Amino acid sequence: MNAIFKGGCLCGAVRYQSSAAPVMAGNCHCRDCQRASGGAYAPTLFAPTAAVAIDGEVRYFEVKGDSGHAVSRGFCPRCGSQLFGQVEVMPGLLAIRAGTLDDPGLYQPAIDLYTARAQSWDFMDPTLPKFPEMPPHA
Ligand SMILES: [Zn+2]
Ligand SMILES: [Zn+2]
Repeated sequence: MNAIFKGGCLCGAVRYQSSAAPVMAGNCHCRDCQRASGGAYAPTLFAPTAAVAIDGEVRYFEVKGDSGHAVSRGFCPRCGSQLFGQVEVMPGLLAIRAGTLDDPGLYQPAIDLYTARAQSWDFMDPTLPKFPEMPPHA
């Protein structure tokens, strides 16, 4: 496979590579992403699920998002790194946490979402479009 980008978890037990470029990317400031990541937001890119090859065991934790639809966050059961997400309202797309890229500099966020939930200590790029919750049709 010709990898456009690749990455993995902190301990190396989970590795992934994608044969397709990201189709969208954004920083999610929702409370669930704050809790799950331990940070101000989750920097996330999306690639077609079928284009991403994953090696190693990934465990998923599922919650209902505010739409009532399921959001699953995937992590390495050995080191706890969060790598992936699956959003029921975005079938066919795999969310990938930008910090797990081998070259995180590839990440180019296009939007900030769930900014209504952002914390006062969360500094955002003022040039990015902002959505208080989910962007329409995303
Ligand atoms: Zn790991
Ligand atoms: Zn979120």
